[in-house]
Amino acid sequence: MDIDFNESRSDLWKEIYNTEDLHHCYNCGTCISGCPASNGDPPLLIRNLARMVILGLEEELLEEDTPWACVSCSKCEEMCPMDVKPFELVLAIRKWQAQNDVTYVPTSIVEIYKRGYTQAVGVNTELRNQLGLPDLPTISKDPVKLKLYQEMLMKTPVIADNDYMFKGK
Ligand code: SF4
Ligand code: SF4
Repeated sequence: MDIDFNESRSDLWKEIYNTEDLHHCYNCGTCISGCPASNGDPPLLIRNLARMVILGLEEELLEEDTPWACVSCSKCEEMCPMDVKPFELVLAIRKWQAQNDVTYVPTSIVEIYKRGYTQAVGVNTELRNQLGLPDLPTISKDPVKLKLYQEMLMKTPVIADNDYMFKGK
């Protein structure tokens, strides 16, 4: 990522996550080590998001889709040694993105529509197979249920109003 610091906003953190806790982050990466979404594509890397907020990278953050891959497991909250509360940070970034661009549709919603999940199920499936466990049941493996699921999603405003993103998926 090319960063233009002339365009950065030093007070952005106050707008997104107005807590001194954020500045206690020392970039250790512990939050990533236990995060299931860190295996996603692209991966959710909370450490990087914290840095982007602190550095005031507004444009880059507005385009960042990874916060929407969070599955709300709260592992990062338990593991962060500095009590940054990374999960709260993820939620704050999502809220700020939605407030700053009402037309914003995270591409992860396309993944949910297409497959029924946004997470790295493929990685988990390989690990389960190595342990002799059956594949995880996912709706994407059942065409009938997937169709019903997509019809249901198409009734929600966020998808119906942007159906061009989902047609043919
Ligand atoms: S709450 Fe979200 S960001 Fe935190 S570990 Fe879980 S999936 Fe990752
Ligand atoms: S675990 Fe906490 S201190 Fe470490 S990088 Fe993540 S948010 Fe920062």
